[in-house]
Amino acid sequence: MDMLGHQIILKIKSRFFDIVDTNSHNLSYIQLLDEMLGTIKNVLHAKDIALYSCKEWDDHWRIEVATDSSYFCPNVLNSLEFRQLLMSHKIHRQSCETEAFNKYDILLPLKHKDGINSFFVIRTNDTGQKISYSDSLLEILIEECSLFLDKIQSLVKIVTEERKYKLLFRVTEKFHSSMKMEDVLGEVIYTLQELYPTFSYYLLLSHDNNSRGDLPIKDLEYDSENIAALEAYVTGQVQFENSREERQSVLYAPLKGKQGVYGVLQVIAPNTVNFPKSEKEFITLLANTAGSAVENAQLYQQSKKLVSDLQLINETTHRLNSNLRLTEMMRYISERISSSFHAEEVGFILFSSESNAMSVLVGSTNFFHTKDAEAYVQHFKEKIKLEKDSLFIGDFEFPQQKSAKYKSIMAIPMMQTGLLKGFSLVMHPSPYHFSFETFKLLQSLIHHSTLALTNSMLREELEKLVITDHLTKLYSRNFLDEKVQCSIKTDQEGTFILIDIDNFKAVNDTYGHQIGDEIIIQVANIIIENIRGSDIGSRWGGEELAVYLPKVPLQLGISIAERLVAKVRAKTNPFVTISCGVSYWNKEIKDDYHSIFKRADKALYVAKETGKDRVVVQTMDFVSE
Ligand code: GH3
Ligand code: MG
Ligand code: MG
Repeated sequence: MDMLGHQIILKIKSRFFDIVDTNSHNLSYIQLLDEMLGTIKNVLHAKDIALYSCKEWDDHWRIEVATDSSYFCPNVLNSLEFRQLLMSHKIHRQSCETEAFNKYDILLPLKHKDGINSFFVIRTNDTGQKISYSDSLLEILIEECSLFLDKIQSLVKIVTEERKYKLLFRVTEKFHSSMKMEDVLGEVIYTLQELYPTFSYYLLLSHDNNSRGDLPIKDLEYDSENIAALEAYVTGQVQFENSREERQSVLYAPLKGKQGVYGVLQVIAPNTVNFPKSEKEFITLLANTAGSAVENAQLYQQSKKLVSDLQLINETTHRLNSNLRLTEMMRYISERISSSFHAEEVGFILFSSESNAMSVLVGSTNFFHTKDAEAYVQHFKEKIKLEKDSLFIGDFEFPQQKSAKYKSIMAIPMMQTGLLKGFSLVMHPSPYHFSFETFKLLQSLIHHSTLALTNSMLREELEKLVITDHLTKLYSRNFLDEKVQCSIKTDQEGTFILIDIDNFKAVNDTYGHQIGDEIIIQVANIIIENIRGSDIGSRWGGEELAVYLPKVPLQLGISIAERLVAKVRAKTNPFVTISCGVSYWNKEIKDDYHSIFKRADKALYVAKETGKDRVVVQTMDFVSE
């Protein structure tokens, strides 16, 4: 090589050194290449230089950098065109036979450990007068440029890696500072876009996600034709899918958490036949971070849900143990089920212990008191009695063609000490409305409520028993006493009727005690049928009965007593009659229960003395002894 050649090489080497020494950390790869090209152009006094490269994932040679006026050469060469160019140039012979490059006189293929991956084309002169360089100079130039390109590539790689891991750090920081899945996923996508702006990204998530924001989320469908995505999801391994027709390469990285795979990150590299494998590791890391974020968010949601479920059970059982009346208790449970589970209909059906009968408990929604409910109640009664287990149905249909309005149904048996007491039906018209978790929670709620519920029912039955006369089902005398005393305090007036069956000894003697009892029941029923719900009919003792009519004036009271006398006379079988003693009070005259009773008793005595089968009234002028 001559002196000039030496000088050229020395100049180039020294400028190359300066580029790396001063700029490497601030400049991008393209800027470094730009400087490299500038250096060669200056030193060789060339007109134009362009650098073509073929990336690992691409089978095309593209211009990576070019000096400003390099518009003579094509931007892209496919591998065939490249081979033709190489042949025609005979490496760096200074002649140009390929038409697209006929303005270029030098081609310098740069050596790399895996072969040629870049080349320069150089136009030395625009006058057609080509400058000639010695082969040895060009050989050394190739050496030096190859070395330098390698150097800046590895430098840039280090800088890029550093930047990538800084970005990864930013994502992980976000991951640790936010419980919001969408924040972390957003950061993952943002980072990828920053690093590989020409790629597109999708998150294929396996779970129903409500909070999507503007993230590129797609559902991962199990029956999808996207086999590679499913493969990544199922195996937890990164998958690639290269399509020559669509000229794109796709990577599927599973979003892996500690407990499972939550979806797949889809990265589409356009104009590429092979996905850049060198990026796999980094994208996998990001996908794993995204997986952990989804997992975290789900665990957080689950724990929040669990806490609120426990709260619901805790509050409900607490309320149930606070001695609520049955009505209030049922209203409370029903309301909680409606609001917590977004149920449209809530019903409680109890089996009666004696017969096959059922009753709809108070607190059930109105639907359960309509005719339409019967088909549902009947259907699920059979099922529950048969299976003695809860039913969870997402798309209910009646077996006999009859179309069902309610599609989502949960039927939970109410069991106590191994006995089936009844069941609860919770329904909604939309199919698949309730989740399986809701079903489990409802089971638990009903399970916890059944004991309190049956206890409360037993207590109310007992209370009723105490105030009811067993034989006649009229109120007991104690209850009547209480009600009269209460009425004297709060009402303006009232009428009291004391009733005694006439000649009852004779009835007993003639027909026996059992028939005697039946006659008492007949008279009691006549009383029940002829008074209102607010009146109190009671068994005073033996064959004596009494009726108290709160807020009823005397005349009306007398006519009610007379109606009773007439009805008993007409309707009893064997036939009996009754005698009635009536007394009345009002706020204007000082009075008390004892004297009200005494007056009625006196009137009854008079009725018996004056022929029985009649009504006698005793007013206030009777003075009790
Ligand atoms: P009077 O018309 O004067 O009332 O005559 P009476 O025979 O009904 O006499 P009284 O009211 O004094 O007699 C009550 C009788 O009713 C006494 C008893 O044998 C009968 N008795 C009382 N309680 C019952 C009962 O629960 N069942 C039956 N079968 N008989 C009763
Ligand atoms: Mg009597
Ligand atoms: Mg009698």
